[in-house]
Amino acid sequence: MTGKLTFTMIKPSAVEAGHSGKILDMIITAGFHIRGIKKVKLSTAQAGKFYEVHKERPFYQSLVAYMTSGPVYAMVLEKEDAVNTFRKLIGATNPAEAEEGTIRKKFGLSLEKNAVHGSDSDENAIIESHFFFSELEMN
Ligand code: ATP
Ligand code: MG
Repeated sequence: MTGKLTFTMIKPSAVEAGHSGKILDMIITAGFHIRGIKKVKLSTAQAGKFYEVHKERPFYQSLVAYMTSGPVYAMVLEKEDAVNTFRKLIGATNPAEAEEGTIRKKFGLSLEKNAVHGSDSDENAIIESHFFFSELEMN
């Protein structure tokens, strides 16, 4: 049984470079329905909590600094098999290894500044959506 929701962020480097519109267009063209969208600037505490699973990893502090360096667009997306389908659209974590035509291949700058986030499971999609959105904001 696969879920219909996933959560994404357009990361600070992509927002700053002016790629938000093009990324949104790719997401909508791929058939995702935007259930919620907001532009937010994360605090260090908020980004630290969001990426808590990575807190023992060597890249954690740099990742938190990056994710708080500017605003992000946070979104809840709906589509059949949303998590897997969206991860195909964004491509591999490292843009250099991402397939041609994927969002990370087109707009990622580095392994860290890889343009977008995508939930890795149905369970995390729900947790991450609720981190940013109330039920009222998902329609
Ligand atoms: P995301 O969770 O952002 O969708 P992902 O699931 O492909 O990406 P994770 O392993 O969850 O990758 O890592 C979370 C984020 O941490 C990555 O998107 C990237 O920005 C950063 N990251 C991951 N591995 C590294 C690394 N080795 N060096 C620097 N940054 C990294
Ligand atoms: Mg991840």
